[in-house]
Amino acid sequence: SPAPLREDIRADFPGIAGRPDRVYLDSAATSQRPESVIAAEADFARRDYAAVHRGSSLATGEATYAFESARERVAAFVGAGEREVVWTASATDALNVVALGMSDASAGLGGDRFALRPGDEILVTEAEHHADLIPWQRLARRTGATLRWVPVDERGLWTIDDLRAQLSSRTRVIAFAHVSNVTGMIAPVADIAALAQEAGALTVLDACQSAPHLPLDLGRLGVDFAAFSGHKMLGPNGVGVLYGRAALLDELPPARTGGSAITTVTMTDAEFLPAPQRFEAGTQPVTQIVGLGAAVDYLAALGMANVRAHEDSLAAELIDAVVSVPGVRLIGPPPGAPRAALASFDVEGVHAHDVGQFLDDRGITVRTGHHCAQPLHRRLGLTSTTRASASVYTTSAEIAALRDALGEVRGFFGADR
Ligand code: PMP
Repeated sequence: SPAPLREDIRADFPGIAGRPDRVYLDSAATSQRPESVIAAEADFARRDYAAVHRGSSLATGEATYAFESARERVAAFVGAGEREVVWTASATDALNVVALGMSDASAGLGGDRFALRPGDEILVTEAEHHADLIPWQRLARRTGATLRWVPVDERGLWTIDDLRAQLSSRTRVIAFAHVSNVTGMIAPVADIAALAQEAGALTVLDACQSAPHLPLDLGRLGVDFAAFSGHKMLGPNGVGVLYGRAALLDELPPARTGGSAITTVTMTDAEFLPAPQRFEAGTQPVTQIVGLGAAVDYLAALGMANVRAHEDSLAAELIDAVVSVPGVRLIGPPPGAPRAALASFDVEGVHAHDVGQFLDDRGITVRTGHHCAQPLHRRLGLTSTTRASASVYTTSAEIAALRDALGEVRGFFGADR
């Protein structure tokens, strides 16, 4: 059974440690970094800084070791093989690498199994983050494929049956978020991956909001590709991961080409290395990669089952806080249903930006806006919502502070009259 996280865990995070005035409820946008991550980056910058994978010097060897060791640890953390972790600039970048690779395949640049033809279908959901929508829109436009989507209901939710209803014999790609950054809904990934496999479609998982919060075993879940970002999982920004099954990564055309990714180059052609190197053209953000290695060490030491249990109880408190305030509409799974520890809500009669400003004046950091999910908000009949989100260092006291402040918002703006 899960063990509670350490009482003094906040002390590890200099951005919030010793600052009781700072209620940080914006971890779904960017999480705080523990000292161990900051130290890993600084130590690398001070001590081990050198080019990786180029040349044969001792310094390069040490830097390469740090770089590849981070890859091994990140791979182990998400249930991937080492060759299945590709460094990218962000989750957004990782999703683009898949869509652009398929576009190249469709243009005859290799990787025939990824080629789309007019009439083929790409399936997403209406709840997707723009990062998992716009690259597919472009791929559809470039190839003549049709973009279809699983509609959401008035809470922003969809089910596997809704997804099944959109599947056809022409579905080639199913792209969806493991955890929605707006609703907190957790998708039944393994079941969808099995369905996709039967249908002969590739699955692309946006794991941005799950990698930091749930035990993740991508190999076992059976997805073909997945994307996540360092800065949402206690790591640095500027680095993300594209996961792909090794056999697929070896065939997907590399969207970015250049040095380090190749075996032989002539004046008219180039041959690429196997994955992951074929996708890592040019100089990588090595310092951030080392930091991400330290971030997964930190999470692994906490134990992801423990993290999930901690955040589960925070989720219940958060939902309770939100629904306890009259005139506040909760988006996403109803109270009691499984969800991530994030809550988006609409305060009747008060614009989300005013809600955000009011909370900010009380030292409470939340996110307001459409959270890069305009179609979802449109379906909800809203232009923006307020989102509070938790992480390993979030406390019940922070959620209580949110509850108290939320209780005053409508009165302050005269919306309760
Ligand atoms: N997908 C989801 C579900 C997200 O929450 C985010 C970040 N808000 C992204 C994709 C994009 O991540 P990044 O900006 O780090 O590329």
